[in-house]
Amino acid sequence: MDTPSIDDLPRPSVGRLAPSPTGLLHVGHARSFLLAWWHARASGGRIVLRLEDLDGDRVKPGMAEQCVRDLAWLGLDWDGPTIVQSQGTAEIDAAVTELVARGLAYPCVCSRKEIEAAQSAPHPGQEKGRYPGTCRGKWPTLAEAERATGKPAAARLVVEPGRIELVDAFAGPFASDPWSEVGDFPIARRAGAAAYQLAVVVDDGRAGVTVVVRGDDLLSSTARQWLLQRALGLPHPAWHHVPLVVDEGGRRLAKRSDDLSLSELRTRGVPAERVVAWVARRSGLPDAEPAAAERFVHAFTLKNVRRTPLVLDRGALAELVDGR
Ligand code: GLU
Repeated sequence: MDTPSIDDLPRPSVGRLAPSPTGLLHVGHARSFLLAWWHARASGGRIVLRLEDLDGDRVKPGMAEQCVRDLAWLGLDWDGPTIVQSQGTAEIDAAVTELVARGLAYPCVCSRKEIEAAQSAPHPGQEKGRYPGTCRGKWPTLAEAERATGKPAAARLVVEPGRIELVDAFAGPFASDPWSEVGDFPIARRAGAAAYQLAVVVDDGRAGVTVVVRGDDLLSSTARQWLLQRALGLPHPAWHHVPLVVDEGGRRLAKRSDDLSLSELRTRGVPAERVVAWVARRSGLPDAEPAAAERFVHAFTLKNVRRTPLVLDRGALAELVDGR
């Protein structure tokens, strides 16, 4: 319960924009990034840009550059050089080694199939593929596990049973139980290939990030990140999980909804100001002319942002695409 509320944020804050270059950014991303940027700038804080390109199988060529272009098109800027996650993995890999050496994580050689077979009937609240701890305590290092089994070894964090209660500075109190939901979760997919949960924690710590504003699809990851911060002695940022943009059926926009991608909107002649104005109008901000992102900074507060998903219905879509 040590996460500060909106009112007692450390000022000035350090925020971040952390896109994954796995597909085109769409209006849902634009909205989350604008909120993160407005929040950082309104509090007189810094904001860093980090391209999360560690998942080699999902990263698409050219997407990192495209993400940067899209963010700049929206009128966002950031402090310091763009951080490319894959270009600085030494500290993340060192964190894996440290956690394994301290007995807080362990090597695992189970395949996805084996994990699913070991848990054929997940209990309510358990994710499919919850790890039952098969490899816990078997080998002291990843190298040893690989030598003994001839298989590549992942690393998993030891998760103890129990609920973790946290306060999201935007979404309010929430509790989760990673032990029953996911079990010992992966922090590296194999030696030298850190998993998202660990990479995000190490890199946020390294950049001194104090405020995280991101979509609430990541709320369920937060307790895992909190556990990793505790294990590594890193401070917890003030999390703010904002509701996503959804379609009329309530489904989140997927990265494959290319027709709503920022680059497609741009190609169709939609000006960046229209996208910004569209988001601003739905974020409790008064109109500004021209609707450049920076024009909204002084009036922005997360307190005026609604706590329900933003529905992209026909009217909202026409306003965005056709300007009416
Ligand atoms: N890169 C992640 C994504 O695009 C977001 C990471 C984070 O905000 O913690 O889903």
